Amino acid sequence: MMKYYSTNKQAPVATLEEAVVKGLAGDKGLFMPERINPIDPAIISNLKNMSFHEIALEVAKAFFGEDIEEATLKQIVTDTLSFDTPVVQVNDNIYSLELFHGPTLAFKDVGGRFMARLLGHFIRTKGNRGKVNVLVATSGDTGSAVANGFLGVPGIHVYVLYPKGKVSPIQECQFTTLGQNITALEIDGTFDDCQSLVKSVFMDEELNNHMMLTSANSINVARFLPQSFYYFNAYAQLDRIGKANELVFSVPSGNFSNITAGLFAHRMGLPVKRFIAANNRNDVFLEYLQTATYTPRPSVQTIANAMDVGDPSNFARILDLFGNDINTHQKVSSLISGYRYTNEQIAGTMQEVFKNTGYVLDPHGACGYQALVDNQLSPAETGVFLETAHPAKFKETVDQILNSDIDIPAKLQAFMQGEKQSLGLSKEFDPFKAYLLQQE
Ligand SMILES: *Cc1c(COP(=O)(O)O)cnc(C)c1O
Repeated sequence: MMKYYSTNKQAPVATLEEAVVKGLAGDKGLFMPERINPIDPAIISNLKNMSFHEIALEVAKAFFGEDIEEATLKQIVTDTLSFDTPVVQVNDNIYSLELFHGPTLAFKDVGGRFMARLLGHFIRTKGNRGKVNVLVATSGDTGSAVANGFLGVPGIHVYVLYPKGKVSPIQECQFTTLGQNITALEIDGTFDDCQSLVKSVFMDEELNNHMMLTSANSINVARFLPQSFYYFNAYAQLDRIGKANELVFSVPSGNFSNITAGLFAHRMGLPVKRFIAANNRNDVFLEYLQTATYTPRPSVQTIANAMDVGDPSNFARILDLFGNDINTHQKVSSLISGYRYTNEQIAGTMQEVFKNTGYVLDPHGACGYQALVDNQLSPAETGVFLETAHPAKFKETVDQILNSDIDIPAKLQAFMQGEKQSLGLSKEFDPFKAYLLQQE
């Protein structure tokens, strides 16, 4: 059985089920698996002959195989990954890992769908545990991925908290039009306010006695660990064309769950030379790399809004992964480099790439792409940036920058037909708590 400990080391260890149901440890730390099982090197060299489902199952077994039987895990992986994560060449040695082919057109579909199915499995096998309430704070894409992952799952109700006026209309319709077991809460504040409301709920004893609560933010191990699947899948695809020898992954980062999943993949034995964290103007991580001090601050709004995070939750996991001691900064900064981009730079990158290659970047992927360019890859290196969302999710911004009229995929259009339903709340904790106390 795998045990999960808290990054703050003040809470008792938890089982997988406890870690998934609780989300956050009792001491406000994040859960970490006590061991990171390596993938057999023979499997790594054979990845190129395996399908995405086969690859993902191997990785899932390393994380969850001690707690979930293989047939169940296989079902969860197959149901979760009903879409591919193709690697597409953009320039000579720069490739886009397209993570937007799922139902809500962003990478968060992977974790959202996996977590919904894993939690559904726990509820089914344990019987009468009562309703589980999933809380999720979103800066845009998490809410839609989690809400759609959990839509119609019996025994679960989802509350999506989002900052009023700070998510795009297309993003908003993907979690406000669903109905059923999904409730959208429009918070008069920033994403950080939404995130801290969610964290406060888990610290509130009265609420936790009143209802069973869990978080589906990337603090939840069931959401963030499955994100390592597609790093292995990218490696497999590049290995097939002889380009996997010196891989550099560039990850557009906000809460740092995606890059942390990449670091887990690396720790499991995936041959990656180094990582790049690409940020918008919210650059506390870059500052950490440069100064060894971490100073969270309020987020600023940018055109890459899913990365508008001033205090990335998974930073604690990165520190923990590298020992959280005096050598940590040196280890982190030798494996990861950082870049930051203003709105103007992001727009410039999108225009240049579109003009030179015809590839349409979304504002988040543009940060990842530009960081590979600025990092000046050697000829032997292959750069892969994570294209974290489909550009049509940010159609207004993209069209304005590219002077284009990009197509909206059919699955996105379907959401836009629905009627918006949401409840407005202030960013104060007390009214939110009062509201939740009225729910069953
Ligand atoms: C969530 C998101 C990010 C940031 O991912 P993290 O795991 O929070 O670092 C980047 N781009 C898009 C499009 C996103 O939705």
